[in-house]
Amino acid sequence: MSFNLLSVAWIPIQHQGNYQKISLQQLLCSEQTGAVCLPRDDMELACLQLLCAITQVLFLPSEKNELLKYLKKPISADIYKKACSDKIDWFDLNHQKTPFMQIRGVKSTQPTPMDKLLAGVADGTNKAFVNPQGLAEALCGGCVAIALFNAANNCPSMGGGFKGSLRGNTPITIFIKGRDLRETVWLNILSEEAVEEFMPMPWHERTKDQLPNYMEPVKADSKIPVSAIGLNRGLLWQPAHFELLPPQTIGRCSCCGCEEAVYNGFNKAKFSYTIEGVWPHPLSSRMFSIKKGDKEEKFPSFTTTAPTWTHMSRLVVDQDDKGKGGHEAAPVIKQARKLLAAYKIQLIIGGYRNNQATILERRHELFSLAQGWAEHGDIIQQLIGNGLAYKSALRKALYLFAVGVKDKVNGSGVNLCDPIEAQYYQQTESLMHESLAEINFNASQDAVQELNQQLKAIAIGLFNQATEPYRQEPKMLKALALARRSLHKSLRELEPEGDTHE
Ligand SMILES: [Zn+2]
Repeated sequence: MSFNLLSVAWIPIQHQGNYQKISLQQLLCSEQTGAVCLPRDDMELACLQLLCAITQVLFLPSEKNELLKYLKKPISADIYKKACSDKIDWFDLNHQKTPFMQIRGVKSTQPTPMDKLLAGVADGTNKAFVNPQGLAEALCGGCVAIALFNAANNCPSMGGGFKGSLRGNTPITIFIKGRDLRETVWLNILSEEAVEEFMPMPWHERTKDQLPNYMEPVKADSKIPVSAIGLNRGLLWQPAHFELLPPQTIGRCSCCGCEEAVYNGFNKAKFSYTIEGVWPHPLSSRMFSIKKGDKEEKFPSFTTTAPTWTHMSRLVVDQDDKGKGGHEAAPVIKQARKLLAAYKIQLIIGGYRNNQATILERRHELFSLAQGWAEHGDIIQQLIGNGLAYKSALRKALYLFAVGVKDKVNGSGVNLCDPIEAQYYQQTESLMHESLAEINFNASQDAVQELNQQLKAIAIGLFNQATEPYRQEPKMLKALALARRSLHKSLRELEPEGDTHE
């Protein structure tokens, strides 16, 4: 029996407390509103990403005005049906020959349980508090499609011999948020004009009629240049060889809780090939560095516990330090600079933080950028830079307190850097969000100074609080004085030129 994502009601949404599943046609063709609703925030995000990928593949609006038309009001059922007509076979989870995101005939000695498909459930050391026990023993069609897509796009690979996503281990994904789900989906679709302008993909024209790789598989051990991967093929890229076991019984989905035919496991097999180059994803910014004259690109990822705002400039601003490196915003953000320049913009930012195959943390956050964001990247960069600079000043002072200066000042031996940095991030989080959301770009230097004063007060407060217990220790007094001098020197350097009063 087919389970086709173009016709089945698989999208779990909630509106004013009412939960239901709707079809993609209902989402795009009616006034239906609501937000994606699943018990896991990463699955919600993956659901949105899958909706965007399917919609992008079905509709490639020729230019801005066509996209705006789709954005403004629901499309007709006829337009929807026409867009689906030649792609029905792409999205059937149980298709006899080309099941969605799977390969038929995968041989493995024993099936893998379903929980392996949900990132972090099976191998996270912190699973006990991140996920309730028993999650992912069986998944309904909708949840399994989302999980397959998530594993292919956002997660570390299944281990040695299994290839991971085109974007590397755990990329950050960025979405523009609309007033409702329908609008959100369209805001993250590129027009063909934008693909040509903002995706560094000069091979678009000759690759636009390609099939996904689960329909037209790549050869084992082949070398595939990214210029052989078109938009549709890249968006739906399945890096691994997976095949779901047929759905057996009516059961309870351990993710969304619905009663439907459920999938209990899948087969997986090692399969190797090499991708040459970096495929530019519409929902990802890219960082680049120049090494020996060659440009090396990669996708930003949450590699530390530092909060999401610290990544903000590389997510929404373009920078090119000639000869050294820089970053470029995601193509959808570049498109939005033209489409939404006159508005405040809301962003959804998400991704995992991993240590190899282990998921350490999931993030799914909302950010707002004040009106004027599109043309004032330099100010956004300045706000973020200052947020980081006050942290560094504090950290440097605490480091000196711990280690002193060789042959001159004995350090205290008490290293407070990490715990106080964590507190700094906690205390500044909402301040940074508010500054980005509310800054008046017409009087930006006042706003920057106002933020600086608040960051400075937090840095001084944390320094005092951290070192307070050691003030009565004669052996540590010199180290403390050294640290305090360092802090105030760094803070003075962050004041505007010519304004050096304390
Ligand atoms: Zn489900």
